[in-house]
Amino acid sequence: MVVKDNLRTPIVCVMGHVDHGKTSLLDMIRGSAVVSGEAGAITQHIGATEVPISAIVEKCGNPGLLDKFMVPGLLFIDTPGHHAFTTLRSRGGALADLAVVIVDINEGFKPQTIESLNILQQHKTPFVVVANKIDKIHGWNPQKGAPFMTSYNKQSEHVRGSLDTKFYEVVGELYSNGFSSDRYDRVNDFQHNIGVIPISAITGEGIPDLLMVLLGLAQRFLESNLHYNAEGPGVGTVLEVKEERGLGTTLDLILYDGVLKKGDTIVVGCLGEPIQTKVRAILKPRALSEINVEDKFKQVSKVTAAVGVKISAPHLDGALSGGSVRVATAETLDAVVEEVRNEVEDVQIDTDQSGITIKADTIGSLEALVNELKKEDIPIRKADVGDISNRDIMEAFAIEDPFHSVIVGFNVNILPDAKEKVRSTGVKVFMNDVIYRLIDDYRDWVKEQRAISEKAVSETIVKPAMFTIMPDCVFRQSKPAVVGVRVIGGTIKTKVDVTTGDGTVVGIVKGLQSRGENVSVATIGMEVAMSIDGPTVGRQINEGDVLYANIPERHAKILEHELYDSLSADELEALDSFLDIKRRDNPFWAK
Ligand code: GDP
Repeated sequence: MVVKDNLRTPIVCVMGHVDHGKTSLLDMIRGSAVVSGEAGAITQHIGATEVPISAIVEKCGNPGLLDKFMVPGLLFIDTPGHHAFTTLRSRGGALADLAVVIVDINEGFKPQTIESLNILQQHKTPFVVVANKIDKIHGWNPQKGAPFMTSYNKQSEHVRGSLDTKFYEVVGELYSNGFSSDRYDRVNDFQHNIGVIPISAITGEGIPDLLMVLLGLAQRFLESNLHYNAEGPGVGTVLEVKEERGLGTTLDLILYDGVLKKGDTIVVGCLGEPIQTKVRAILKPRALSEINVEDKFKQVSKVTAAVGVKISAPHLDGALSGGSVRVATAETLDAVVEEVRNEVEDVQIDTDQSGITIKADTIGSLEALVNELKKEDIPIRKADVGDISNRDIMEAFAIEDPFHSVIVGFNVNILPDAKEKVRSTGVKVFMNDVIYRLIDDYRDWVKEQRAISEKAVSETIVKPAMFTIMPDCVFRQSKPAVVGVRVIGGTIKTKVDVTTGDGTVVGIVKGLQSRGENVSVATIGMEVAMSIDGPTVGRQINEGDVLYANIPERHAKILEHELYDSLSADELEALDSFLDIKRRDNPFWAK
């Protein structure tokens, strides 16, 4: 075997839309490796599964390939999804060396498929796409665990045709998202083309091909990233901070460089000053054969990268998922503390003067959320890791812009004492564990609020109206003048000032009557009796005059700039006629 002992196992994440098969794929990889290899071929880690190269090569039925690869195997992160991907960080970038984006070949691309691709592109992480659930294609003849081509050649021509059609839809969707791709066996240059592998996570078809392609990618693009120092100080990333009975707060971490030993001094990233502590125990899961042993974990005294372990140590409260863990010695302690502090501070999140407040459970997910919000041009005033607190609510409450007096929480909770504050302040809180849903919910809410406030505005604003005093319909000369009018355009209401065709305000509409009944509005075409306080018929107003509702300048601006599209044709006509009158003397009126 040519496995180079200074190359660590590449770390692989599986991402994709919900229900497209991420969990099934990870289960299949675990299961198939167990079956194919001799007992113990695969190793269960905390939060990860290691598939050694021997198991992969055996699965592919070509032992000769063993000589071609130099990496020891593949370490699959057990938690699927882009959340795990963004949480797992190393040196400010993504920890995962490779990713698999899974898409249901029968359903095609969905929002989280695109979100996954965007995240991978941002991090420049090499990836393959698997087109899953080929066994669901009508007439498919399953070939359990077979390499894709073996299985493909066993299908009828008709079924192959169906697969090809669906497959090229996936290629087309990748293309429209900016990626050129082809079936993996036709890709020569994986640097410029994405390899797409048809698979079934249930029958295992195509899984050998997937493992091979991943090894190939690792070999070609990652060799320089995978060099590690087997004797150097351990460096890892916290996958999860967990309370364990009898152990207190523990850290599940992926060690990606160096060695970690029981008793080592470690520095752990957190929002405040980094934690300095000593490793009390390093824990691994027990093998299945040891199932009777009461403890879930077994202790080891030393581990070497890449490996997923749980560590127990004092003072771990406040440790950050996605934060780093670094081994230090007495000589290096100060420098290591500084490094860990900088790593946390490096998550540079540019905030705006005004904007929404966002909270997320890890640094990586916060960064991903910020990126997606920026793409949507949603301004962010404050971005922070942790649950939603009293203080977050009060700060958001103090924001003037109602659309920014909002908290968006990704994978977080509202702290108990803050719940009451949410009720009493009315600050809007959005929570979800899918980024695009959060963004959609926020956008929908903004749209809805806008519509509500438009409605409120339009109800208080003086609407345009144009009406004429009908001949022989003067019922009273003055105090108030009572005349019959016909509405030519718009809506006339009581308590609205009346102007004449030269823009002079002559009085106020006191009352409206239609067929002897009091009404508060009259619309186009209606003939009503109107009492107007102020003018005398024969002096300020006359039969046949066209009169207007007097629109205050501020209202005219809102009508013209904000509500124009919601006005009907006759309202527009009345508004335009009124504006013409006002602008005859002052062209800048209501501009
Ligand atoms: P996740 O949400 O992406 O983790 O998706 P799951 O792995 O939970 O899969 C969702 C559903 O699709 C489950 O009912 C699976 O059994 C099913 N499924 C996943 N992969 C395949 C496949 O290749 N073929 C078939 N027929 N069903 C699949």
